[in-house]
Amino acid sequence: MAGCRKINNYSVRGKAFTPVDSIQYLISNEVVATTQTVLKEYSHLQPASEGIVYWAGKKLENTCLITAVIAPDAMATPFNITIGHQANAKVVEFLCDTGLIHLGQVHTHPGKWVGHSLTDDRAAAFKCQGLLSIVVPDFCTNTMLPLIKCGIHRYENDAFMRLSKTYVNKHFAVTENSLEFVFQDFRVDYYEQVRLVNQA
Ligand SMILES: [Zn+2]
Repeated sequence: MAGCRKINNYSVRGKAFTPVDSIQYLISNEVVATTQTVLKEYSHLQPASEGIVYWAGKKLENTCLITAVIAPDAMATPFNITIGHQANAKVVEFLCDTGLIHLGQVHTHPGKWVGHSLTDDRAAAFKCQGLLSIVVPDFCTNTMLPLIKCGIHRYENDAFMRLSKTYVNKHFAVTENSLEFVFQDFRVDYYEQVRLVNQA
């Protein structure tokens, strides 16, 4: 089928897969709450727009502790979101300064579809093995929980592949607040858009 290929017996596009591994993703409560806040803020722009944040934290053997939310400066529209090289460079600098590990990105879609679009594949600035890419439906106007209503994709063998609900249920958990919680807000364009809306 055009556009569909198989790597390690997993269908790359269209079908969720269930990796056999023992990785656990622990996402602190504040990370979820702050992610939702930022994504909802984009939904309040005129017109309502897609939003994005990056997640970071640390790895302890097979456990990924997600404790940090980074809001990059981004150009948001109702159908896509673009982060420039300079904006991503600031994120990388922040990661270097703090010693945090980039663990994923979270962005919204306007409707219920939470697949990874070709644009999502192409536009993702960071593509390294194991990186998560979570797509939240409905501009995150509701909660992003339970996580299985989101599309949770992971970069594997040069492609973002959707993790199955079975895998997500078993390997992802939202945990209590973390003392190491960090929120870094690099947004400029968003606040400029808010200013223009308020002026109108
Ligand atoms: Zn997308």
